[in-house]
This record gives sequence, C-alpha cells and structure tokens, in this order.
Amino acid sequence: MDKKVRVRFAPSPTGGLHLGGVRTALFNYLFARKNNGTFVLRVEDTDQNRFVEGAEEYIVNCLNWCGITPDESPNNPGAYGPYRQSERKPSYRKFAEQLISDGYAYYAFDTTEDLDAKRKEIPNFQYGQATRMQMRNSLTLTISEVEELLAAKTPHVIRIKVPTDEIVHFNDLIRGDVSFETSLVDDKVLLKADGMPTYHLAVVVDDKAMEISHAFRGEEWLPSAPVHILLWKYLGWEADMPAWAHLPLILKPDGHGKLSKRDGDRLGFPVYAMSWTDPKTGDVTKGFKEMGFMPEAFINMLALLGWNDGTDEELFSLKELEEKFSIERISKAGAKFDFEKAKWYNHEWIKSQGAERLAASVKAELEKAGIEVEDDAFLSTVIDLIKDRCTLLPDFVAQSGYFFASPAEYDVNSVKPKWTVEKADFFKAFAGGLTLTDAVTAEAAFKALAEEKGFKPGELMLPFRIMLVGGKFGPGVFDIAVLLGVEETKARIVKAIAVFNS
Ligand code: GLU
Repeated sequence: MDKKVRVRFAPSPTGGLHLGGVRTALFNYLFARKNNGTFVLRVEDTDQNRFVEGAEEYIVNCLNWCGITPDESPNNPGAYGPYRQSERKPSYRKFAEQLISDGYAYYAFDTTEDLDAKRKEIPNFQYGQATRMQMRNSLTLTISEVEELLAAKTPHVIRIKVPTDEIVHFNDLIRGDVSFETSLVDDKVLLKADGMPTYHLAVVVDDKAMEISHAFRGEEWLPSAPVHILLWKYLGWEADMPAWAHLPLILKPDGHGKLSKRDGDRLGFPVYAMSWTDPKTGDVTKGFKEMGFMPEAFINMLALLGWNDGTDEELFSLKELEEKFSIERISKAGAKFDFEKAKWYNHEWIKSQGAERLAASVKAELEKAGIEVEDDAFLSTVIDLIKDRCTLLPDFVAQSGYFFASPAEYDVNSVKPKWTVEKADFFKAFAGGLTLTDAVTAEAAFKALAEEKGFKPGELMLPFRIMLVGGKFGPGVFDIAVLLGVEETKARIVKAIAVFNS
C-alpha cells in the first residue's frame, strides 16, 4: 500500500518570510489537500546563532494570513512532536554515533585555529576526501587518542564520511534523475560541538521520525541532497526515504538570479509575505499584506510562479488550487517575479469580490487614514461602485475619501479658466431644483437644464465632478451624487461655486 501523504514546511526562524518560502509552504499544503494528506510545520531552529526572537510566531501568522494553516505544528501538535528541532535535541546524537560505529562518520577535533590555518594553506579548502587525512579526527588519530580526547570532553564535531568516487542518484519529481559525484561533496558536519545537530542530520532524522512521504523544498537545497540521500542509506532507512521535489527558483524581474530581499528594497516592491520588524535594529520591511494585497491574490500569484493547470487560466481560488494542483505541472525553469503582474492579480481579485469580503479590509484602510465609517451599508455601496478602480487595498482611500468628507481641495486649474458667471448660475439653478431618485433621471434633468440654458452638457460635467469629488476621477458623477444624497450634493455645489468664483 502507498504511504500516507505527509509533507512538511520546515523553515528556519531567522527573519522575514520570503515569498519563495511561502510558495514552498503553499505547494506542500496543496499537495497535502489534494491527496488527503497531512501538512506539517516543523521549525528548524538548531542553529542558535541564526535564531531570531519572534520569527516563529511571525511565520505562523503569515501562513494563517495566507489561509494555509498547518495540520500539525508547534502550536497544534499531532502524534509526531515536538515540532521544534531544538526540543528534539536528545534524539539526534545516537544516530550520529551509530554512523560512526558503522564507519560512515567520524569525530573531528580540529580547532577553529587549525581550520583557519588549513584554509590559508589550501585555496578553496573543503573538509572532505582530499583533505580529511591531514586533519585531527578519528580517522587519523589512534583509538586510544580518540578515547582520551572524548573522556576529556574535548570539543568536537561529528562529520559524515562521504564515499570516494561514487555517483549518488535520486529521482526528483520535478527534475527526473539527478546525480552527483561524491568527489565534489564535502564531509558536512552532522553534530556540532554544542551537541546540536546541523540541518543535514536533523532534516533526515526528523523526516524519518515524522514519516514524511514527500519533501518539497526550494532548488537552493539541491546541492545538499546527496548528503541527505547518503544519510538515508547509511542509517538503513532507504525504504522510508521521502520522494523529493526541488521547486524552481523565483527569479529577479530581469531573470538574472534568485529574487532577494535586496531586489525588493532596490526596486520598491515587497518580497516578504507580511511586514517584518528586525528585533535587533528595529528596521521594518514591508510585506505584501501591508502593501494592500489580498491573501487570495497573493497565493494565486505565488501558485502560478512555476506552476499552471495546463490551460491559459490564471485566476484560481485556494479551493480550486487544492483540486487542480499537480507536481507534473511544476516547471523546472525558474519563474521570473513581476510586480506589475502581482498587482494585476490583486486588481482581478478585488474586482471579483463582493463588498462583504472587502468591507473589513477597506474599513481598516479608511480608519488608518483617519476616516470613520459609521454606516456599513453605505460603505458596501461605495465599495461596489469603486472597486474596479482599485488595485491595492489602500487605493480605496483615495478612491472613496470624498464619499465620507467634502473635498478639502479642488483641481481648480481644470475648472477656473473656463468658469463663467453663467456656469455659476446654472449650478445654482440645478442645486435649487435638485432631486436624486436615481442616476439616470438625475442625468436627464441635468442635461435638460443645460440645454435650456444654452450649454453643451459636456462642458458642465467636469465642473460638477470636481465639485463633488475634488478631482478628475471616480465613477459616474450621477452615481456619486445619488449616493451623497440631495443635501450633501447641494452643499458641495454651493461650497465649490464660492471657490471657483474667488
Ligand atoms: N530549514 C530549511 C530551510 O530553512 C529547510 C529545507 C528543507 O526543506 O529541507 O529552508
């Protein structure tokens, strides 16, 4: 029988969550949902030097915001806990020692000074098959010397002994057969002097212990794969090894290299899912959420970075992605990130949603801008009227502010050069007899009065819009007037006439 599908997202809590990381989480999640499997969050925090306070909670918040909440995680443990590697520390050493007794690993006692000296002596020094016999380790020392050093608690690490001149093969679900020559692989540290495993040992021990069936991760981990494959073999667990899938890189907009946070800073777009505050420096890096992206649009955009359903369709809800996702349709080639395209997704999502989905987010944006919304039904009507004009959620503020307060400023330059006493009289007369039952009737009345007074209605539309809105934008001006109501529309006409006359 096939193994039950269990996949894991295994981030290290070191800072903001890059969109590539979210995509890895998303593909894991989609694969789990599609196959009635379990999506696990495992926190890989064995590197105490890189550990950053608050980063784990932030990652959890990002996943929740995206709607891809793990089935098992540190906060919601299943039967395979703990879900933080630091809490699993006691489980790793025995495997490192087993590897030593089976001849697949060795103790290394080299000090930092020893290693620095070697690096000076040998350019591009790698601790591996070419150099290991020149170093201070259990391959070069006698058994009793090693025993003495261990008894004296001499600081040491445990390294894998990568075999000489072998080819390590594995099948990658995206790339097919992948092979590595072991002569190019160094003897990675498995267990550090502080007793913590390195990522390489921990990832294998935990994928086995957590019965992970498929390991999806970024292509940047491909060079580490031979070490992991060897460990699965050396620990005698080959039959339980997960299927591998190394996801294509997300590339810079020009396609040259992996997209980094620095590219975002340089080109003015977010790279993190949500804003991240560096706890040491206090520096804030803005995320997609805070830029005004809807989570639906963000994950839709991410899913299509390196995957498609085989048609030209680009808009998918999470539910649809859960049904359609397949590894076969993940491409090998890197996917270029395009911020304009990301915004296009958001625009499409805003347009397709009803006011009930958008109201809370829009209200929050308005409140941030100091606009209190008192009437939720009014807000919903406004949203439906202007959403087609909004790409990012904060656009709702600029596009709807005039519904909540009379314009503080007017685009007078667009009106004044052609403003006349006759036009002022027209608007006074129009305001005097104003009825606003619906936009069509109001427009007909406006046009009839304009013609009666000898105007082309076109020359009066722009001043009317600027009276109500302040500028040359917005939906149909009669729709706006109807929503504002007779009293408010009149008041705005009167106020603006005074400004245009002055
Ligand atoms: N801890 C690794 C990371 O930070 C996980 C790589 C893997 O999934 O094997 O991305």
